[in-house]
Amino acid sequence: MIKIAKFGGSSVADAEHFKKIKAIVDADPGRRFVVVSACGRRFSGDTKVTDLLYLVDAHVNYHVSCDDLLEDIGQRYFDIADDLGLTYPIREEFAKFAEGARAGKFTTEYLVSRGEYFTARLMAEYLGLPFIDAADMVAFHHDGTLSMSRTTELVKKNAREGGFLMPGFYGATKEGRIKLLDRGGGDISGSILAQCLGADLYENWTDVSGFLSADPRIVPSAQPIPRITYEELRELSYMGASVLHEEAVFPVREAGIPLVIKNTNAPEDPGTIISETAKEGESEPIITGIAGKRGFIAIAVSRDRTKSRIGFMRRALSVFERYGVSVEHMPTGVDQFAAVVQASDVKDSLWSLIADIKEEVEPLEIEVVENLALIATVGRNLRGRPGVSGHLFGKLGEAGVSVRMITQGCDEINIICGVEEKDFDLAIATIYDAFCEKDGTIVRTDELNPVSAPL
Ligand code: ASP
Repeated sequence: MIKIAKFGGSSVADAEHFKKIKAIVDADPGRRFVVVSACGRRFSGDTKVTDLLYLVDAHVNYHVSCDDLLEDIGQRYFDIADDLGLTYPIREEFAKFAEGARAGKFTTEYLVSRGEYFTARLMAEYLGLPFIDAADMVAFHHDGTLSMSRTTELVKKNAREGGFLMPGFYGATKEGRIKLLDRGGGDISGSILAQCLGADLYENWTDVSGFLSADPRIVPSAQPIPRITYEELRELSYMGASVLHEEAVFPVREAGIPLVIKNTNAPEDPGTIISETAKEGESEPIITGIAGKRGFIAIAVSRDRTKSRIGFMRRALSVFERYGVSVEHMPTGVDQFAAVVQASDVKDSLWSLIADIKEEVEPLEIEVVENLALIATVGRNLRGRPGVSGHLFGKLGEAGVSVRMITQGCDEINIICGVEEKDFDLAIATIYDAFCEKDGTIVRTDELNPVSAPL
């Protein structure tokens, strides 16, 4: 059994968390392949080592002293090493690094990657696992994209069968130049490793017990989702439910490897498993989760009926393309369509974009609806089930929420509604309430009473 265990920044924040990880790794002989992020926040208001390193880089570029920053970063590693009695020469190694950083010798990527490098060095010793540098495992092209074919070769050549520990977030080009993945990319490193090693499971350890079915700040009783499919995850992550880096699902999905989100601070919690297939006899929820985002606007374009219908939308949309603006949704009517976009994407260009649409399609009218929030109600069990959207919108109506926009794709796993930002929290709480039991758990499909109202 090969399990890849990836521990995120908050899971490796200090010596106490190192101890928790040792207990988790020791508890299961399959957990011998470990990936770590750089030390994250120890408490709210604390700063992640990665962020501090970016700050060091900026100071160096502006020729401002970064001595205090480097001292703070070093101290975090020294504290861990001292508390755990580690022998890795962290003071000497860090001093060499700090000297190079001050002298401006490093690229941004190299400098920032040392966050995971030093964390991994200490963790490898503490867990008694061999350290393998990500620069010898994860291969990049010169343009900064991953080379999966060379990564596969490198992993075959350098991985140790009995287990090892690798820093996440970075890799290197053929010439050894360090390159970084996206922020939060340690999740991707773990997933790539799982794919290349043909793992049986990818465990992603973080500080929450899985994906919650709604934002707990709005729905305090929201529970972790026991199982979610890749499609559902994509829909919810897109709407801002962020636990895992979005791109981390692709390598394991391709290889058919299940991924589980687990909590380092509560390892006995089942977490959320991301998988296409249910366990036998597993009961299914009516909906999987609700997520939403503020900050959208709708640009509604009405056609002048004396002008041709053909090509009207294409020409209007070409303007958005020219401005590099992604159209997120597009509710349509007979002679009108609305392009829903993120307000931040058109912050500086809205009025010139509208002027260009006017020129391109000579519309009857263009209306801009601001301060929209979108809410996605996601669930694999929505498909073919009459009454769900009726129930949802009925409840929103009862709560006095005016729905400004509705979309649902033909795959029927997602009902998206647009509401005014001021109604955002109320709408999410109302939808959750519409599909949950008194104790806050989501109604299961096998609990539905076929005689009573649809739902
Ligand atoms: N340390 C990196 C970050 O803060 C990568 C990661 O944590 O996955 O973005």
